[in-house]
Amino acid sequence: SKEKGRNCYSFYDTRIMEAATRRYELEDALKTAIVNNELFLLYQPKVCLSTGRVHSAEALIRWEHPKYGLISPMEFIPIAEASLAIIPIGQWVLEQVCLQSARWQAYPHLTSIAANVSSVQLTDSNFINVVKSALANANCAGERLEIEQTESWFMDDPDNNVKILSEIKKLGVQLSLDDFGTAYSSLSQLGRLPLDILKIDKSFIDDCVHNDRDHMIVRTIIQLGHNLGMKIVAEGVEYEAQRELLELEGCEFYQGYLYAKPVTAQEFEALLVAEY
Ligand code: C2E
Ligand code: CA
Ligand code: CA
Ligand code: CA
Repeated sequence: SKEKGRNCYSFYDTRIMEAATRRYELEDALKTAIVNNELFLLYQPKVCLSTGRVHSAEALIRWEHPKYGLISPMEFIPIAEASLAIIPIGQWVLEQVCLQSARWQAYPHLTSIAANVSSVQLTDSNFINVVKSALANANCAGERLEIEQTESWFMDDPDNNVKILSEIKKLGVQLSLDDFGTAYSSLSQLGRLPLDILKIDKSFIDDCVHNDRDHMIVRTIIQLGHNLGMKIVAEGVEYEAQRELLELEGCEFYQGYLYAKPVTAQEFEALLVAEY
């Protein structure tokens, strides 16, 4: 009936209004999230498949909002990108990661810490300087920093983006391509990038043990990466059977709940201590 239709519509309307209000509030609160100490990083180990040891880590951002509680980066990073708050937030992440990586030099098997970097940051004209000063202020060697980026940003302006990545590479920083296989990327462009690491997206890892097609995709990505001189990280590894398959396929590293969820710096250090 007309009456019912109108009620449904207004219910839907209310939901849209609430979502818009939340988004507006988050966008506003993001401006002060750094100074209010609401952001923090968790660290997830990347494990060497041949030794079983923690080899490096990925820093993953979290936001403890005073009203809404813990907010996922899946929700707030896109808002930060749209409002450009990602520029100071991304700088903060790089600074924290460099400080932490320098502190953990004492653990010789831990080679580097990775920061996720948004395309908005990468194409900002000040980006190279931000990376340089984060490294210098932390007294961190370039090799101890890894930058994870996704493939989608690259194809917009390949020539300019090769330049940006080459500049970063000159600092010794390691470059990783995140979520590989999920965006449209041209293989000829991929070959031009000065990349050190390919990360196989979790969506291919999920069923790789039981689904032959996914298994073949994983195998092919590993071979492609190796042929281009890269090391391979498999993400989202949750089961032992996945780990075994990846080891047999010659993948170098894995990351996932099987070994550890993202943990605080303190907990991460306890993992490192336990290994020695
Ligand atoms: P991502 O870079 O692909 O990170 C991997 C995500 O998978 C993380 O979610 C991680 O906690 C989760 N994960 C790791 N292992 C497993 C597993 O075995 N099973 C399952 N189900 N999940 C696993 P998280 O921490 O919620 O981050 C989501 C996304 O937010 C990241 O995806 C990344 O794109 C973005 N992000 C996180 N931190 C930052 C940051 O500091 N800067 C930027 N620009 N983006 C960030
Ligand atoms: Ca990542
Ligand atoms: Ca990823
Ligand atoms: Ca992702």
